[in-house]
Amino acid sequence: MVVAPRPAFERLDPTLIEALKMRVVGTLIQPGDEEYDRARQTHDPAVDRYPAVIVRAGDAADVIRAVTFAREQGLPLAVRSGGHSLAGHGSVDGGVVLDLSHMKAVSVDPVRQTAWVQAGATAGDVLTHTQPHGLALATGDTSSVGIGGLTLGGGMGWLVRKYGLTIDNLTAVEMVTADGRLIVASPNEHPDLFWAVRGGGGNFGVATAFEFRLAPVSTIVGGALILPPTPAVVRGYADYALTAPDELTTIAAVMPLPPHPAIPAEVHGMLTFTILICYVGDLEEGQRVLDPLRALATPLADLTGPMPYPALYQFTAQAAERHTASVRAGFLDELSDEVIGAILEHSQSRPAPMGMVQIRALGGAMARVPKDTTAFAHRDKSFLVAIINMGDGSEVATWTEALWQRLRPYTAGVAVNFVGDEGDERVREAYPTPTYERLAEVKRRYDPTNLFRLNQNIQPAG
Ligand SMILES: Cc1cc2nc3c(=O)[nH]c(=O)nc-3n(C[C@H](O)[C@H](O)[C@H](O)COP(=O)(O)OP(=O)(O)OC[C@H]3O[C@@H](n4cnc5c(N)ncnc54)[C@H](O)[C@@H]3O)c2cc1C
Repeated sequence: MVVAPRPAFERLDPTLIEALKMRVVGTLIQPGDEEYDRARQTHDPAVDRYPAVIVRAGDAADVIRAVTFAREQGLPLAVRSGGHSLAGHGSVDGGVVLDLSHMKAVSVDPVRQTAWVQAGATAGDVLTHTQPHGLALATGDTSSVGIGGLTLGGGMGWLVRKYGLTIDNLTAVEMVTADGRLIVASPNEHPDLFWAVRGGGGNFGVATAFEFRLAPVSTIVGGALILPPTPAVVRGYADYALTAPDELTTIAAVMPLPPHPAIPAEVHGMLTFTILICYVGDLEEGQRVLDPLRALATPLADLTGPMPYPALYQFTAQAAERHTASVRAGFLDELSDEVIGAILEHSQSRPAPMGMVQIRALGGAMARVPKDTTAFAHRDKSFLVAIINMGDGSEVATWTEALWQRLRPYTAGVAVNFVGDEGDERVREAYPTPTYERLAEVKRRYDPTNLFRLNQNIQPAG
């Protein structure tokens, strides 16, 4: 039997934990508690760590208490909202986990078209509250992802070409700093911090709530267009997706055909080029805008059409379930024939049943924001390519790594939300050098001792 490692827990004074427990409005969970094994889980079952204390915060004061406790006890601190960190940063052996997943209130002002959102809400939670007003926030492609981590890393999804990144719709953030202060960062208050948290990740404090601008989004032309995976189809997609109107955002993937009632069972698992579509605008015009994609080849299936915006998330429902995945990603200035060839060739031999190479066509509203407005500065990139291999085991990781080594020379930077546990060099790739240096300076001001280091870490300037 494997004995669970509990290093720092052994030397923690139980009376300190009891004192913290008495003050916490939310829940404090420790080894031995009935809830402990569930509470230490993240979205990735492979993240199997044994924290000394889990503080499931009930309010911002709990966040202050947990941050202060970790700092005073010299314990490592893992902060999580939706728990989807690709790097396994959502938990820590022997340290403090600050879990914001129960702080998930969402309040919508339909007149001003804004929302106040606690950090533990998921993209799906936000949608549930905004859709009755015909509004939406630009979030990612999967409903279960936490607004906390998604926003601090940028947030790129179905509306990116029309309404930009999640951070492009952020107007203020409430945060707890390393020294335990509750502050607001906005264009007028702590503007340096407001710049840094829009793409700089969890390096500068714990976000407790966000204020966002919403956009009018209700019925869209959306769904999946499933095409044969040929070089000409991928080339045609890449050329069109960038020049199409901003109303059209697409997330395409070389991937096996998933089980779907509208698709004959005998072709499930067949390799395809699947384009997930989100057109926000006039519905008839949207159908016309899709025609050039439909004309790329005879579709294996055409599941596109008018639908309520939330229905789009059904196409990524599998990713919303807990799973392990090996992921490698990078931005591309162009999708060259060499890159297309490598992706298609390598995809013939996927070991995992749900392995895919995702290609996101960018540009539009995201590219129009000047690059020094936020810490997310790779705004001029045309595509994000992400190898996403669901499943664990060395065969899956080896396949991912082998394709990544072929694609990497063609990439230029990466979105920090798509970086796994890949070391400092890859964190630096998420930022142009001047951006990283500016982030390091803000880090020095707000977290000089690097209390918030279980993240894609920015080293405080020396
Ligand atoms: C299935 C899946 C689909 C995804 N799709 C997209 C997508 O379409 N677009 C996209 O941009 N990204 C996407 N991502 C990446 C995702 O945005 C990041 O992994 C993000 O960090 C997850 O946020 P979270 O709150 O769920 O995760 P968490 O694990 O809770 O947080 C991740 C990290 O963010 C920091 N953090 C989280 N909350 C806070 C907080 N309140 N205050 C301070 N720091 C905090 C911490 O450093 C933490 O380690 C996807 C990831 C997965 C697993």
